[in-house]
Amino acid sequence: MIEHDLNDWYRWLSDWEPTMSSGSPAGWCRTCDDRRFPDAAGIRDTDPHQVVHELIRRMTVIASELLEDLMDTEHGGLEAHDEPCRECALNANTAVVEALSDHAVFIRRALDLYVTPKVDAFVAEVTNCLNVCDTEDTDL
Ligand SMILES: [Zn+2]
Ligand SMILES: [Zn+2]
Repeated sequence: MIEHDLNDWYRWLSDWEPTMSSGSPAGWCRTCDDRRFPDAAGIRDTDPHQVVHELIRRMTVIASELLEDLMDTEHGGLEAHDEPCRECALNANTAVVEALSDHAVFIRRALDLYVTPKVDAFVAEVTNCLNVCDTEDTDL
């Protein structure tokens, strides 16, 4: 189940291109600030938020699907209850954390392969452009 979503994310990564709004770590949203999934996946502070967010979003969907399954088997479905059982929620999250830990090496490899070179090239291009703009300014 998680393999399918990770493969999907790897494909998404290979098409991903950095932009100015890809996001610095300082701008991480609340979902990504919860470090349970990012830490298990071996995400670093230097990884672009956009890329991290796409992974965490997918993992959050898996966790809630797992929770639904657990509620079905353990408590006769979510509908019968006002709130999901805390123990089931914990179990669903733990299952995702463990699966992410198992795949952390591959996740890191994909980030190093697809994301880091594109970010480096992008930063070099922006720096280059800034230098050109600076030179033009001083020429005036
Ligand atoms: Zn986020
Ligand atoms: Zn339960």
